[in-house]
Amino acid sequence: MDAADINGDLTEVLYTEKQIQERVREIAVQIDEDYRGKEPLLVGVLNGAVMVMADLYRALTIHAQMDCMAVSSYGSGTQSSGVVRILKDLSIDVHGRHVLVVEDIVDTGLTLTYLLENLASRNPASLKLAAMFRKPEANKVHIDMAYVGFDIPNRFVVGYGLDFNGRYRNLVDVGVLNPSIYA
Ligand code: 5GP
Repeated sequence: MDAADINGDLTEVLYTEKQIQERVREIAVQIDEDYRGKEPLLVGVLNGAVMVMADLYRALTIHAQMDCMAVSSYGSGTQSSGVVRILKDLSIDVHGRHVLVVEDIVDTGLTLTYLLENLASRNPASLKLAAMFRKPEANKVHIDMAYVGFDIPNRFVVGYGLDFNGRYRNLVDVGVLNPSIYA
């Protein structure tokens, strides 16, 4: 679905499908260069990173592998809870691997801080992060983001994998959810 299909649910479209796809391709070119000869393992964080993982992984021209983890963070609200739990762990051993975590969005960074510490303890050869969207709060946490798609305002957004109560993940654009939807 695109923004026109859910007329009224968004107050604003921040990025169109075309803009998102172009940015993903740009990031893929950088990853190609940085990881040439290293066969990185892309680790996606379910469910939000599904779209960016699918697009980014296919845009790479180098050999790479992918795996996914599921962690709980938000529940069904719009505020970060700070509670992180691994719901599904990786199937691939990351020891000695060049790991690139692929995230949909970094807001408070609570989820990622936990995840990166957890992955670092498994002794990967390297550990970096790619996030499609970054909110201002994220600048307060000291997470080195090797690749960032877009810096966005501190609003609750949906689309391109980002949901509200399980909806809007299949929206190809990304926009600000009308507060009336969650009021
Ligand atoms: P953090 O721990 O960085 O505060 O939040 C991480 C997770 O919260 C993200 O992976 C995402 O699932 C969710 N999240 C943060 N901001 C937003 C937002 O604006 N919209 C949606 N749909 N989810 C968000």
